Amino acid sequence: MSVSQLARSIVESPTLRLNEEARLLRERGEPVIHLGIGEPKNKAPLNAILSTASKLVTGDVKYSPTDGLPSLKKAIIRYTEEHYDRVVAPENVIISSGAKQSIFNLLYTILNPQDEVIILAPYWVSYPEMVRMVYGVPVIVTPEDGSFCPRLEDIERAVGPYTRAIIANSPNNPSGVVYPASLLAELVEFCERKGIWLITDDIYHKLVFDGVEAVPAYRFTKKDIESTKLIAVNGIAKLYGMTGYRIGWTIANRELTQIMTNIQAQTTSCTSLILQAGAEGALLGLQSVVEALRLQIQNNRDVIVQEIASFTGVRLIRPQGTFYCLPDFRAYSNDSVALSQFLLKKAMVVTVPGKEFGMEGHLRLSYSGTVKDVTEGLARMKWALDPTSANEIYIGDRKLVRDWL
Ligand code: PMP
Repeated sequence: MSVSQLARSIVESPTLRLNEEARLLRERGEPVIHLGIGEPKNKAPLNAILSTASKLVTGDVKYSPTDGLPSLKKAIIRYTEEHYDRVVAPENVIISSGAKQSIFNLLYTILNPQDEVIILAPYWVSYPEMVRMVYGVPVIVTPEDGSFCPRLEDIERAVGPYTRAIIANSPNNPSGVVYPASLLAELVEFCERKGIWLITDDIYHKLVFDGVEAVPAYRFTKKDIESTKLIAVNGIAKLYGMTGYRIGWTIANRELTQIMTNIQAQTTSCTSLILQAGAEGALLGLQSVVEALRLQIQNNRDVIVQEIASFTGVRLIRPQGTFYCLPDFRAYSNDSVALSQFLLKKAMVVTVPGKEFGMEGHLRLSYSGTVKDVTEGLARMKWALDPTSANEIYIGDRKLVRDWL
């Protein structure tokens, strides 16, 4: 079949593939536990539902302005003022179909072919592929000390004449690490001095634990929104557990926002009006839902940390945010893809291989589901891997005996 070399080279999203695999297994009645996907279990907040429904029942469902519904922009501007201490204009905001599309449009806007983007490992799986989709070159910087937190020296060493941007995602998917304020301050100073875009993917910024704050990078620039090199990406998917609404946005200078708007106009025209109305409802509604979600996930985090501690030889950096953790399973296998497949086959537990995030030998585990998922999932993993655990287990209504260790 004749398809472009580039399209052929783009890899399937491993998390979405695993999701589909888990769905098919469940459909066959298999008792799968999904520790792969990052999707909170809560329902959309009531105000979001009402706002969605009231837009729908008008029957007046047309195109929205390409860069977004003015009333949703207003809510985003208020949110930005409240959480970033920045007053921005509607011309600094563009709403897209998920933060994923926001990042893609942004990379399309700022990169020429062969331009480089620094990506900090462990990284969200989509960054390198998206950079490659716009003919850019991802340059991965991996912290050598195993801390999951990059040092500026390592980043500086990777920067060259073709570097156009650095993507920083904190709280970090997949590690749950929150970058220290000092690193963000250094990155802001460095990027502004060098004229490199600093893209902060803040999609998990409210999902933080133990009083830790995900400090917005804006705090470290004295420049105004028109002259700073900072671009913030955010959305409602993780904040409100509204992944299916597909609403994300960027905050950037007017010129960049205008060019991104042209790109969006020529591709998707705009984001769905109904779903934008829902996002507006979420942003303007009771914010206690965010705190409730945060507390539930913090509790899940406590449980998963405790469960992982009971494995022999597995090291974990305690996550301070998101709903992921990235334990080091090299005591069991150096091949995370094989290990993940083994766990799915033997224990019916979905995990994501660390290799997909630039951290071979690790597994990303999501604790966005229920406590029961976490405890049962980890018990099954322990049974499958750890010879010190009991060799019999019930999975669903089947009693299984381990005969491979
Ligand atoms: N950035 C990161 C770091 C993510 O983990 C995700 C979702 N998994 C996104 C962006 C995309 O968010 P959205 O669902 O709004 O496209």
